Amino acid sequence: MFIDSRELEKNQLLQADLCIIGAGAAGITIAREFIGTSKKVILLESGGFEFNQDIQDLNRGKNTGHHSFDLHVNRLRFFGGTTNHWAGHCRPLEAIDFEKKPWVPYSGWPINRSDLNEYYFKAQTILELGEPDYGDLGAFEKATNLKALELDNKRLQSVVYGQSPPTRFGKVYRQELENAANIDIYLYANVLTINAHPSLSGIKDLSVTSFTGQPFTVQANKYILATGGIENPRLLLLSNNVYPQGLGNQNDLVGRFFMDHLLLRPGLDLSFTHPGLNLRLYHGIHQLEGRKQFAVMTIAQNLLRAEKLANFRAHLYRTRPRYQLPIGGVFSDIDDFAGENPLKPARNNSIGVHLVLDPTPNPESRITLSQTDVDRFNQPRVNVKWLIDNTDLNNAYRAMELIALEFGRLGLGRGYSDLFKDQHHWPNNLEAGKHHCGTTRMADTPQLGVVDADCKVFGVDNLYIAGSSVFPTIGYANPTFTIVALALRLSDHIKSNFV
Ligand SMILES: Cc1cc2nc3c(=O)[nH]c(=O)nc-3n(C[C@H](O)[C@H](O)[C@H](O)COP(=O)(O)OP(=O)(O)OC[C@H]3O[C@@H](n4cnc5c(N)ncnc54)[C@H](O)[C@@H]3O)c2cc1C
Repeated sequence: MFIDSRELEKNQLLQADLCIIGAGAAGITIAREFIGTSKKVILLESGGFEFNQDIQDLNRGKNTGHHSFDLHVNRLRFFGGTTNHWAGHCRPLEAIDFEKKPWVPYSGWPINRSDLNEYYFKAQTILELGEPDYGDLGAFEKATNLKALELDNKRLQSVVYGQSPPTRFGKVYRQELENAANIDIYLYANVLTINAHPSLSGIKDLSVTSFTGQPFTVQANKYILATGGIENPRLLLLSNNVYPQGLGNQNDLVGRFFMDHLLLRPGLDLSFTHPGLNLRLYHGIHQLEGRKQFAVMTIAQNLLRAEKLANFRAHLYRTRPRYQLPIGGVFSDIDDFAGENPLKPARNNSIGVHLVLDPTPNPESRITLSQTDVDRFNQPRVNVKWLIDNTDLNNAYRAMELIALEFGRLGLGRGYSDLFKDQHHWPNNLEAGKHHCGTTRMADTPQLGVVDADCKVFGVDNLYIAGSSVFPTIGYANPTFTIVALALRLSDHIKSNFV
């Protein structure tokens, strides 16, 4: 059932077995898992069914790091959350993304890829993906009747991506949730603080306000915070009734390790010369029976280990011939990369490479509360200091070099980049992936993370976190498939731990 919080009487006390905060991909997935169970669930959502600029303004904040992005545009504050405008690209993380890599400080998840396999499988249905052949390029080639590039798989490999319609969670799952007798969804319900028991044993209740200012309280046996990678740490930091430094923040880790995918577009312009060459497998989305897919290129894992690099993926897209491109700033010509088979670039047949890079975790890259700016509920807004360092720059350069070398070897053209070797600044065209991760990271110990392997906040008995804020590292894949898989795993864990 949906309830409009603006119509509640002042100071009501609402009670449930489970309370979920935030109705995006994570929150809605968990609520659905409890439909028809004996548990009463309350789902609290800040917005209504449609976009509203005044509510969206609650997401405003400041950027003080290396790269700015629009905090009030990148995430959406209404039922369905940011899935109301996500693009739907889906691929599981690779096994290597979960590993502790000695050359990447703070890497390593407390779980393995195999712990998520069954949940990725189930997530495919939720994200309306059908059953993409993630591990089977041959099947994809056969289904499309297209050939993958003959990449040197010691250097690069082609992998398959799934494409969700994209699923708009707020629309696709609205009716089912409305019909669920044990799920109450409060719209226009903004959680202000998560209040700990004075005994420190766990969470006592939530202070909530409707958008129009009616305060109310929610009490539950267990709570799940699912408000996205920036609001999750914000709410923990705001919740300081017992712990002055904020909930789960005994070791000053809440909000640290903020990460996003680094996106260079175009990373390289490749002019290709083969008249019969068909790169359609790599650009455009292929509608197959019961599923949509496309291919990307990634680095060979042995090379990643041998050179101590970062994971990346590269998409191809059609672009205007290079000589027509407006050249802003300095472009360095790196066509010597194509040295293995130097070719004159064709001037009328260009493709762009869109590079997406796995960033290095950095504790100084962080979300904090503003000392000066507050929202309409008088809550401090966020300050995002996103830091990306020279390791990331060098990884980006090497990724582009590898792609250019491979295209040179195949005789497909030459690469140009706006990144120099040993350069100390990012090009102007650097973008953020809009994937906000790392700020309540998962770890084996509270010294290294905010939540444990079950997504429970260390030191707090009944508070769990869902969403990409728990990712300690992020690989090259978009996060939502993993967010949904983790949400399903968390639902199973909570079900089995209800007494
Ligand atoms: C333009 C764009 C394209 C994207 N494309 C892709 C893609 O192709 N593939 C991919 O994997 N990912 C993509 N993403 C990222 C994807 O949208 C997110 O990973 C995903 O939506 C995160 O899910 P979530 O449930 O954690 O958070 P959200 O979906 O952001 O949901 C959080 C919810 O919490 C609510 N909330 C916030 N604060 C409070 C509060 N105090 N009280 C109550 N409720 C609150 C919000 O209103 C919102 O509904 C894209 C993002 C953008 C911006």
